[in-house]
Amino acid sequence: MTIALPDLAAMTAFGERIARVLRGGDVVALTGGLGAGKTTLARAILAALGHQGEVPSPTFTIVETYDALSPPVVHADFYRLKSPNEAAELGLDDYREGAALIAEWPDHAGGFADEPACLSIALETVGDGRQAIVEAGPDWQSRW
Ligand code: ADP
Ligand code: MG
Repeated sequence: MTIALPDLAAMTAFGERIARVLRGGDVVALTGGLGAGKTTLARAILAALGHQGEVPSPTFTIVETYDALSPPVVHADFYRLKSPNEAAELGLDDYREGAALIAEWPDHAGGFADEPACLSIALETVGDGRQAIVEAGPDWQSRW
């Protein structure tokens, strides 16, 4: 499924659509190059879940947690990982317990597409805007 995201308002609406059906245990795997809009979409999801205030890009911290939300959210940027083992070393499984994971550069953590609750979103630049190619795992089919 391809979704046009011509501007930031479309990104906000797309984030709201995801947030409405997001559950603990989910993965929202965001792929696309630098500037594709991964962090922008993560911010839109977090805002739609009721988060107020800053959403720092986790480029340097790798993981940012939002425990007060329902579901709790772990926002990760795995760009700097050198191997998927490093995701285990930083305690990713513990972070994920009961939370939804929003992952930038998921492939650097070994990828999540084989998980039934993974929503894979590939963001691409189209003119001044973006488009998303969405692949929903089996757990998402009825929700999407
Ligand atoms: P990434 O995390 O993929 O590196 P960012 O989310 O930081 O990318 O976005 C980079 C820039 O793209 C930001 O300036 C943001 O405002 C812009 N942007 C994001 N989504 C859209 C969109 N749908 N249309 C136009 N600009 C966008
Ligand atoms: Mg980013």
